[in-house]
This record gives sequence, structure tokens and C-alpha cells, in this order.
Amino acid sequence: MNIVLLGPPGAGKGTQARILVERDGMVQLSTGDMLRSAVAAETEIGKQVKAVMESGGLVTDEIVVGIISDRIEQPDFKGNVIFDGFPRTLAQADAFGELLAKKGMALDAVIEMRCDDEKLVERVTGRFTCHTCGEGYHTSFKKPKVEGVCDKCGGTEFTHRHDDNADAMRSRLLAYYKETSPLVGYYHAKDTLALVDGTAEIDEVTAQIAEALN
Ligand code: ADP
Ligand code: ADP
Ligand code: ZN
Repeated sequence: MNIVLLGPPGAGKGTQARILVERDGMVQLSTGDMLRSAVAAETEIGKQVKAVMESGGLVTDEIVVGIISDRIEQPDFKGNVIFDGFPRTLAQADAFGELLAKKGMALDAVIEMRCDDEKLVERVTGRFTCHTCGEGYHTSFKKPKVEGVCDKCGGTEFTHRHDDNADAMRSRLLAYYKETSPLVGYYHAKDTLALVDGTAEIDEVTAQIAEALN
């Protein structure tokens, strides 16, 4: 099964993707994570995308489709993937459909995670991540059980994303409504769309996704 988690920044895509990985052994592909790794490693692509990511704009379709096609076109690509944060434009969605078709694969479901802007800003500005294992946390909604210690790996170093500030968040939301939200209609027309309430508690969202995938 291949699924897309579609939703604005802070909707809970990464959180739910990690739960699906743990529970169902799916593979998470997050273009945001892949791009951040490229920036950290100072690769050619990393240098090209650093500024636009910091400002909250979208990286070009060419670059993003390039990194995704590198994965899908690998001979050992078996699918069973949760695409987190991809596609984000209609052009990406078209290219994605073609890449999967070439592999004889399909997109089984697109989960739209809907959430209001006020909550999204609150979530994103309080978000932090374990530096060691990547587990996501929130200063109010998902604190580590022991303060300063990662529940998953015991790590004690945490990072806060540069673009998780109110300014960049305005641009990211605008990019979502302008460029990405048309994908709701696109996938509805293809009969693959399911809506979940992203404002619900984390466990409740997980249950709604499980129901949608059944
Ligand atoms: P969020 O938590 O806001 O959903 P991501 O980690 O998915 O953020 O993405 C962070 C940034 O990476 C985006 O603001 C954008 O600059 C870039 N990015 C990630 N995925 C894509 C994509 N599919 N198309 C264009 N830009 C992307
Ligand atoms: P996205 O990947 O869509 O940008 P994340 O999964 O990183 O979003 O979630 C953003 C922040 O909100 C994180 O700090 C996370 O711990 C928290 N969070 C995620 N889902 C929920 C939820 N259902 N209720 C409250 N907080 C949540
Ligand atoms: Zn950890």
C-alpha cells in the first residue's frame, strides 16, 4: 500500500507517519526531511534550497520530483510507503502518478488532515525533535515523559527547526492554500481522498486514519 499524508504545516503528518512506520512496518518518505538532510550535508541541492526553505516558500518541482524519482526508480523500491509532505503541487502530483505507474504501482489513499490556522501556528512554534532518533515532540501537547529525555531513544539533545517561527509560518500556510490545497480536488476526483480531523488528539487521529485505510 502507498499512501500520501496531505495537510498544512503542523497538521500532524510526521507524527502519524512515524506511528504507521512503527505499527505497520511502512516506510516514511518525507521530502522535508530529505531536503533538510541535503542542507545539513551542504550538497549542491542543499545549497540551492536553503534560503527558500528558511523563508517558508516551496522548493521547485524539478528538485523535489528529482529526489522522489531517485527513490522510486531504485530497482529495490518495493512501495509500502507513506509519502509525507509530497506531492505539494499539481505538477508534482502528475509526475508522481507517472513514476508510480512506471513501476506498476498505485496510490491507494490520500489522507487529508484538516486543521485550523490558529492551532497550526501553536503546534509548529512549540515543536521540537530528538536530535538522535528524530522523534517529534511539543512543548504542551506531547512532552517527553521525563523532561529533557527522549522517550524513544533516551537522547538528551533536541532541535528546533529554523522555519518553525511565526514569520516563515505565514508563508508556509500561504503556500499550502495556494499551491497544495488544489490537490484535495485532484485526488477527490480520482476517488482516493479521505478526510480526517487533524484537530483531534493524536490517538484519535491515528484511529481515524486506520478507519480510512480499511
Ligand atoms: P511541514 O512540517 O511544514 O509540513 P516539511 O518538513 O514537509 O514541513 O517541509 C519543510 C519545507 O521543505 C517546506 O516549507 C518547503 O520549503 C520544503 N518542501 C518539503 N516538501 C516539499 C515539496 N513536496 N515541494 C516543495 N517544497 C517542499
Ligand atoms: P507536520 O509533519 O504535519 O508538520 P507534526 O507531526 O510535526 O506536523 O506535528 C506538529 C507539532 O504538533 C508537533 O510538535 C507534534 O508533536 C504536535 N502534534 C501532532 N499531532 C498533534 C495532535 N493531534 N494534537 C496536538 N499536537 C499534535
Ligand atoms: Zn530520540
